[in-house]
Amino acid sequence: YGDYNQRIDYVFKVVLIGDSAVGKSQLLARFARNEFSVDSKATIGVEFQTKTLVIDNKTVKSQIWDTAGQERYRAVTSAYYRGAVGAMLVYDMTKRQSFDNIARWLEELRGHADQNLVIMLVGNKCDLGSLRAVPTEDAQEFAQRENLFFMETSALESTNVETAFFTVLTEIYRIIS
Ligand code: GDP
Ligand code: MG
Repeated sequence: YGDYNQRIDYVFKVVLIGDSAVGKSQLLARFARNEFSVDSKATIGVEFQTKTLVIDNKTVKSQIWDTAGQERYRAVTSAYYRGAVGAMLVYDMTKRQSFDNIARWLEELRGHADQNLVIMLVGNKCDLGSLRAVPTEDAQEFAQRENLFFMETSALESTNVETAFFTVLTEIYRIIS
């Protein structure tokens, strides 16, 4: 039989993209390890973390890739996108520029990745509500127009982080199964 507990039915690669300092690494730390660190260092080297979950009685191993501090335009290599079936497109809701850059990230993403890619637009740092620079409706409208899922999250307070990843992974599962 092998070890039933080790059986993996699916492996889904999901990439995190978006400007530097929007909270990509902390979203990943929160999702994969339920951790958050206030003084997170810029990510060095290509890194991914895995989290295994059960969807519809199937064991799904998610492999979540984090940019290696290569957030400058076109600095993310095609190897990063290769094989990705999901993407978290992250902006900081207190930084308008990080939202304005989303269109560029989306273009780059669509230029590299699979046609059926499931994409979640993520407005992170919703715990900083008083500093909001991106109205929810603006992001919602963009997401609708571009056919993306959308959620506002806080890696700090753990708001919607699991839901955001779970939504993407469940949708990927729905498409491929
Ligand atoms: P990355 O460059 O996109 O990977 O961003 P990081 O994950 O390194 O986060 C950048 C900074 O934003 C760090 O100082 C984090 O502590 C902070 N940060 C990340 N997520 C949140 C959040 O949800 N709320 C708040 N208030 N700060 C956050
Ligand atoms: Mg990072």
